[in-house]
Amino acid sequence: MVRKKIVAGNWKMNKSYDEGIALVEQLVDELDMDKVGDTHIIIAPPSVLLQPVTELLMFSPGIAVAAQNCHHEESGAFTGEISAAMIKSVDADAVIVGHSERREYFKEDDALISKKMKAALDKELMVIYCCGESFEERKTANHIAVVEKQLRTALSDFSAKDADNIIVAYEPVWAIGTGEVATVAQAGEMHTHIRTVLSSIFGDAAQNMSILYGGSVKPDNAAELFAHPDIDGGLIGGASLKSADFMSIIYAMPK
Ligand code: PEP
Repeated sequence: MVRKKIVAGNWKMNKSYDEGIALVEQLVDELDMDKVGDTHIIIAPPSVLLQPVTELLMFSPGIAVAAQNCHHEESGAFTGEISAAMIKSVDADAVIVGHSERREYFKEDDALISKKMKAALDKELMVIYCCGESFEERKTANHIAVVEKQLRTALSDFSAKDADNIIVAYEPVWAIGTGEVATVAQAGEMHTHIRTVLSSIFGDAAQNMSILYGGSVKPDNAAELFAHPDIDGGLIGGASLKSADFMSIIYAMPK
């Protein structure tokens, strides 16, 4: 297995049904597959759009679909939640877990995130596991330790075989939706450390794991970030809502 290059778009709580369909149709029509090359694309729409987007992309094998969250139980009295089984039942491919907005607004911690990952992997979904430090943690030079603790708490129960289905997204909280992007040196230092931690958990399998950077990636800064050997792609929020911007970011991946 080789390490995949991935550009994933997290729409968050944006786009009506019709707007979401229109955005995916535009991407399918306009994406130049020669420029995409071997980059894998993932789209994470809100859950009401999972089924129609999956159906629209049935004949676009290079574009996968992810949910933005899941519950760790398979079913039950959890009003407002969706399970990994439900995500799988609409033929989606993946689920994002541990996004900083879920950590901050819904008080999710790595012990819970680990349960969500187990639920998703049990249903043969890929997992995009997000980690990252706050501004305060970086300012006090605790960023490396904080991210390492997140990774070890969430991932230590998984095997090297599971690692094939886990993508890590490093998203410094201070860079998400703020327009402030980590420098290549800051992101690169963290990605290299993340791979060292992944190697200590998963052994050689860590070499094949994709580590994405997320936090204000835009068409004008993507190429520089993606050129770093340990940055295997991006998790894109705001810029994934406009097809032209999302496509330029996809094309910025080195061939
Ligand atoms: C995100 O939501 O994962 C993200 C990185 O957002 P943005 O690109 O808008 O900073």
